[in-house]
Amino acid sequence: MPLPFPHVFLPDVTHITPALLKQLGVSGLLLDIDGTLMQTRDSMPAQPVLDWMENMKNAGIILYILSNNKHHHRVKAFAEAVELPWQHLAKKPGLAGFRLAAQRLGLRPDQLAMVGDQTYTDVFGARRFGCKAILVDSTDTYLWYFWPRRLAELPFRKERP
Ligand SMILES: [Mg+2]
Repeated sequence: MPLPFPHVFLPDVTHITPALLKQLGVSGLLLDIDGTLMQTRDSMPAQPVLDWMENMKNAGIILYILSNNKHHHRVKAFAEAVELPWQHLAKKPGLAGFRLAAQRLGLRPDQLAMVGDQTYTDVFGARRFGCKAILVDSTDTYLWYFWPRRLAELPFRKERP
């Protein structure tokens, strides 16, 4: 069983650059929504994140929404607004969602990176699947379970190849 260390750990998604992805050998990003692109209570990301998504697309990086959120409407409305393929109820760290995403994109696991804010879903799933794991600091700091979860994640909040 792989340990859920991220390959890369950044403050937020806007720190991800085409140069970094090239270095990682990655051409597609699987994007978590809640706590990663925006707070769970929001319906659209902040403008810098929208700009970042646009820049990634313009650089030829393939983007795909891979969300564990169970609210079909929330995920669909956002993904359609930013014109990206998507999955809700992805059940990360389970592998079925990762496999379907890779199949739909026509990319191998090693050509993909999962970008997410949670160690035991996003990072662990990515490690199991064999893609790169990019951990970002969660934007969901207002949730009551934020600190208990952070405490449980502490041992794995450092980069490891
Ligand atoms: Mg999340």
